[in-house]
Amino acid sequence: MYEEYKNLIVQFGLKILRSNHVSGTSGNISLRISNDLLAITPSGVAYDELSTRDIPIIDLQGLLIEGDLKPSIEYQLHTMIYKTFQDVNAVIHTHSIYSTVLSVLHKPLPAIYETLLTIGDPIPVSEYANAGSLELAKNVVECMKKSKAVIIANHGLVCAAKTLQEAFDMCETVERGAQVYVTALSTGFPIQTIDEKHAKEAAEFLRKNYGQRR
Ligand code: 13P
Ligand code: ZN
Repeated sequence: MYEEYKNLIVQFGLKILRSNHVSGTSGNISLRISNDLLAITPSGVAYDELSTRDIPIIDLQGLLIEGDLKPSIEYQLHTMIYKTFQDVNAVIHTHSIYSTVLSVLHKPLPAIYETLLTIGDPIPVSEYANAGSLELAKNVVECMKKSKAVIIANHGLVCAAKTLQEAFDMCETVERGAQVYVTALSTGFPIQTIDEKHAKEAAEFLRKNYGQRR
């Protein structure tokens, strides 16, 4: 059952692998099926070896509903995000390099250019907690009240959105922003951010006008 959801998880697994957001078995992906059900990547399985029959279906309590493999160790992070934010249907957690550099520095990513403004200003770093812990889930969800992309301290990045495509695009935007920011910092010159007035105007303008509106 739920083939189309499982299929999307497999597809986006390959996408985050091929675009270098993860390596090996790091990171995880989930997709909401209904109010109480989600499809999620299994723990410790390489993305290029995943097939739809490997994708577990769990409920919001973390109970395995369908599948033979153990769900991601970060299942509490995924379920807590869906429980807290009704408008979120897809979550992608990556170990993207430059976002992880900021996670090690405990440095939030300021909106140094406009596309970042539509995600969060700044993109916060959650308080440290160990991988796979309930504490990590709580710390990330706290930050998500301000920004749907969160840098996880000493770990990586997580993006939550309405669709997997949107969550993937957020991962790309944040990672590219982090790359520019880390490179700019490494020059030793001071970083110039966009002033508050322009930042507000630009965020609003992009929210209303960017892309193909239907
Ligand atoms: P899983 O393979 O269990 O999803 O763990 C990978 C990861 O990135 C943990 O934070
Ligand atoms: Zn991780």
